[in-house]
Amino acid sequence: MDASRLFKCRVLLVDDDPVLLQTTAAIVRSFGFSVRTAEDGFVALKILREVLPDMIISDLRMPNMSGFELLSIVRRRFPHLPTIGISGEFILATMPLGLLVDHFFQKGEYTPGDLKAKMKELISDSPIRPHIGKADKAPLWIPRKDADYIVVTCPECLRSSSIPDQTDAGDLQLTECFACSAMISYLVDSSVLKALRDARPKASAAN
Ligand SMILES: [Zn+2]
Repeated sequence: MDASRLFKCRVLLVDDDPVLLQTTAAIVRSFGFSVRTAEDGFVALKILREVLPDMIISDLRMPNMSGFELLSIVRRRFPHLPTIGISGEFILATMPLGLLVDHFFQKGEYTPGDLKAKMKELISDSPIRPHIGKADKAPLWIPRKDADYIVVTCPECLRSSSIPDQTDAGDLQLTECFACSAMISYLVDSSVLKALRDARPKASAAN
């Protein structure tokens, strides 16, 4: 292990709310971590192509690329990387969160001390995380949008492309990466975005 990580772990923070992003970044820096920020999943992927952090903390509901998609790619490509999901939305029992994140915090329902304790715990556990083999076989999971295309991100080179959405939900699909020619297997699932909308009757869907 790189000895420097014992002193300054690098954290990638992802949130589309700029105020919250900077506030959380300041809190995490005060814990002694080095922080980079991204305002959505695509920006986060661009950073991940350059440098690998020691942990990712991501909002789940964001425009462009949601935290669900981002974390699904991260889990596939970097299964050892600890992840924390944060969201203002309720979480449904049916959401595959356990597959995507190591821990979930509800916005406004945790203290900086809770966050610090969980970050330290996950980083100290990360070399012995048990599910690397499983993640290797898991297909990417892509939430279906209200559009006739889907965005597929290659777990090998982390580049994204739009392809026509002609799939039946739940069927395993294969496509070839336009950049590196890796074969990408993925699942399209409309249930999570629909569930997010259905459970917020008073707010219009933001995405
Ligand atoms: Zn690729």
